Amino acid sequence: MQNRVAYVYSYELERLGNIGTHPAGRSNRVHSLAKSLDLFDTSDEASDDKPDLSPEEKVVPSKATVVVPRLATDVDLRRYHSKEFVDFLLDSEQTEKRPTETDSENFSSDTGSEASEASTSHSYNSRPSKKRRVQQTPADRFGLKDVRRSDCPPFPEISDYARSVVGSTLTAAETLRKDDYDAVINWEGGRHHALRDRCSGFCYVQDVVLGMDYLRRHGQSKASLNRTDIATTSTRKPRIMYLDLDVHFGDAPAAAFKHPYRYSSPLTSSQKRQPKPQIMTVSVHHHSPGFFPSTIEADLTSPASPTPCTISIPLQRAASAPTYARIWRTCIEPLHTAFEPDYVVLLLGMDALAGDKLVDGAGNWSTQGEGGVAWCIERVLEWGCKMLILGGGGYHRANTARGWAIVTSTLLKRAIPEDVPPHDYWPEYSPSFQMHVEPTGAKDENTDASLGAIEQAIEMLASRITEIMAT
Ligand SMILES: [Zn+2]
Repeated sequence: MQNRVAYVYSYELERLGNIGTHPAGRSNRVHSLAKSLDLFDTSDEASDDKPDLSPEEKVVPSKATVVVPRLATDVDLRRYHSKEFVDFLLDSEQTEKRPTETDSENFSSDTGSEASEASTSHSYNSRPSKKRRVQQTPADRFGLKDVRRSDCPPFPEISDYARSVVGSTLTAAETLRKDDYDAVINWEGGRHHALRDRCSGFCYVQDVVLGMDYLRRHGQSKASLNRTDIATTSTRKPRIMYLDLDVHFGDAPAAAFKHPYRYSSPLTSSQKRQPKPQIMTVSVHHHSPGFFPSTIEADLTSPASPTPCTISIPLQRAASAPTYARIWRTCIEPLHTAFEPDYVVLLLGMDALAGDKLVDGAGNWSTQGEGGVAWCIERVLEWGCKMLILGGGGYHRANTARGWAIVTSTLLKRAIPEDVPPHDYWPEYSPSFQMHVEPTGAKDENTDASLGAIEQAIEMLASRITEIMAT
């Protein structure tokens, strides 16, 4: 049966994405390739102009239906971000001021909070740690530093961009909840590093947490959606599995949704009466000393963790499709079975793909074959959950466009040509001009021993999650 897929898009969303998302111009490549493959129809872009149509009438066979995003309000942003941060970010006169470098002795060092974050928030762009003498401005405090010192420089239209990114993911979540779609895609979302009061790792605002928070509060359980079990419908809150396959650890969603209650093993009688976690976060990423975000949370989650629904699966360098296939079968599937989610939120940064130079060979994932991008999406489809699909990193613009076009076509259950169709950016697909991303010859450093250690920990965590969710 064909999947019903929505695609969050507008020309304005693409225009702002080109400016605010690193690397610049990526949004053009992503949407142009999807258009050239006829994966969504821009003539339907004005679907909000046809509010009287039912979701069934809006769906174009074998194409994703375009949903035009709304802009986030101040209230939306403040559900996660601090008031001071939001006020500053949305004040264009403030954010466009550049910090001033100075040799003055009036050097103002980082605040305590910044200093502590500095140890966990290294720049994507590794540079010598030569300390500059700077006069700290409010922009510094909120992570909006000069481009030479930060991944998040201020830029004109930053307030429009912030509202656009969060608004697009909220639109996706709202569409998934209220309309009859199986999956809603927002490639402009997925800014998984933005912190409560600080921009970080090319991420200015935190749309991922806000989108999941919306589903947590307003979503429905599968039984309710299918109207199959009236008794369960009235009692069970929706469960959301967040699966982050970006090459970097999904630090902000993991921190935001760490369950406030603690669990031992076996459970105590009082722990059995605690409210059940509604969100399980699972991040599969590369982790090694100094690799962003360099935090202890990116290590393998201990099987004895007091918060077993916050899970980190770190991989060694050059993880390839066979490693993803093994991890999928031995870790992702058991975690899904244990948690029984109603929604899956997939963050699909394409920086784990082979050839992403910014991460210097940290990943060697490919799009095809067992364990490839398309294979993983097919496995998620088998779960039968409603899916919110978000973008994320991806610093090889053509490969990111390839990967996301393949995900979109897989969700639509549509075959696409092997060759990249002619379109404005076609020369950038040289030399192969093929849709698929192949692995390089780099040796996958994930060994039987390293993967075995992960599997041992996840087996215990899955068993504990089963116990927690069953009580
Ligand atoms: Zn990334």
